[in-house]
Amino acid sequence: MIISLKETAERLKTANELILTAHISPDGDAIGSCLGLKYILEQLGKKVRIIIDDDVPSFLKILSGYNDIEKPQEESYQADYLVILDACLDRVGSLVEKCKAPVLNIDHHATNDKRADYLYLAAERAATAEIVFDLGQELGVEFDKESATAVYIGLATDTGYFKYSNTSPHTMRTAAALLEKGVRPETISEAIETKDFAIVRGLAKALQTVELFADGRAAGLFLEYDLTETIETTEGFIDEIRIIDGVDVAVLIKAVQPEVCRVSMRSKVTDVSKLAARLGGGGHKKAAGCTIYKNLYDTKHYLMDEIIKSLEV
Ligand code: 5GP
Ligand code: MN
Repeated sequence: MIISLKETAERLKTANELILTAHISPDGDAIGSCLGLKYILEQLGKKVRIIIDDDVPSFLKILSGYNDIEKPQEESYQADYLVILDACLDRVGSLVEKCKAPVLNIDHHATNDKRADYLYLAAERAATAEIVFDLGQELGVEFDKESATAVYIGLATDTGYFKYSNTSPHTMRTAAALLEKGVRPETISEAIETKDFAIVRGLAKALQTVELFADGRAAGLFLEYDLTETIETTEGFIDEIRIIDGVDVAVLIKAVQPEVCRVSMRSKVTDVSKLAARLGGGGHKKAAGCTIYKNLYDTKHYLMDEIIKSLEV
């Protein structure tokens, strides 16, 4: 059932125990949203746990509360609501099975499958963290510096530091309000941009695989399992090719197992969320992804063909 921001706030207010979760391969928005909402709910006296069915990337360790994030280890969980942030039910792993509480879903992905018991979907928001800020206002909770930092990380990472087309006046106003709580943008960008030597070497190897397609309107990076196995994250790699002059769609395909590839797509014009959704994934018009159960070679040929057919320029 689709609900309003007001009803979302009302439902959170009446609950006592909540479990917050987000998508696997959690990013800055997934974790920032969880930590920001946890703070709001704790201010209202609620009992809150964040449980994520995946490793949380170490670049987020600057966030206070990072060490309290749990992995699902128990057989079953009790709560008044399972709150799913920044994803729908299909990308949160085992928690949906293990926690039978009603699902309250808060998301900004237009491709949300709308299966949640209660869904607040605001596709016009650049980040789920931006919605968490709105919820704080609705519930009359002021963020402190630490929780404001978590929300800011969500905004900054999903907008590429306020440069993607999803950045709206509301995004900027939200960021301004967070800076007023003491958030230091340079501390956050340094923490996020700092990369291990191994990752920079991985990036150098990844960039050697760059290829152009469709007269330069699409570009791709193709990472063998041998390479992805050795690097903790490929966050930001795709940004290095979406800047190529004339490229509309950039794609990064990485074998995460010999027969399983994760796909990331970015575009300037073409709606890549349509293709991602058709292939069982989702996302936004200009940033989307999916998983393809083939080896790297087959995924590359299949997907690049599909991308070329779907180019809108
Ligand atoms: P990224 O390329 O950064 O992993 O993802 C880009 C956008 O697409 C993000 O908003 C992300 O949540 C979404 N996305 C990526 N992969 C999937 C997927 O497999 N399923 C769905 N529903 N969304 C995805
Ligand atoms: Mn997001």
